[in-house]
Amino acid sequence: MNIIEETISVKTHNRNEMIDITSQVQSVISKSGIDSGIAVVTCPHTTAGITINENADPDVPHDILLTLEAMIPQLRKGYRHNEGNSDAHVKSSLVGCSEILCFLNGKLHLGTWQGVFFCEFDGSRNRKVNVRILG
Ligand code: ZN
Repeated sequence: MNIIEETISVKTHNRNEMIDITSQVQSVISKSGIDSGIAVVTCPHTTAGITINENADPDVPHDILLTLEAMIPQLRKGYRHNEGNSDAHVKSSLVGCSEILCFLNGKLHLGTWQGVFFCEFDGSRNRKVNVRILG
């Protein structure tokens, strides 16, 4: 088995934001020269996440963020964590910080409307995403 790892840099501009990183993940797969296998996409942050959802209509990530913000307010009586970003930690755990993707003949095997998103919950920041290719 071949294993290749690369780090993608992601600059976020808003406190809550979903950034489509599908093309960057595909680029790591293409550069690896590995024909088929899996790509493990992880973010090493406790206030961000990785998810797969629709990247055709920008209203979809908007509505996901709107729903998360309604469910998990930034200010809430009872939060103890003194950095003021408890909501971001909760969102990170709910969304998760990784996805496992299959690729075949050098191409990500995603549904027609699916894309890979980096989810920022405590921006703006400079973030990292690790992509490990196994094949
Ligand atoms: Zn914190």
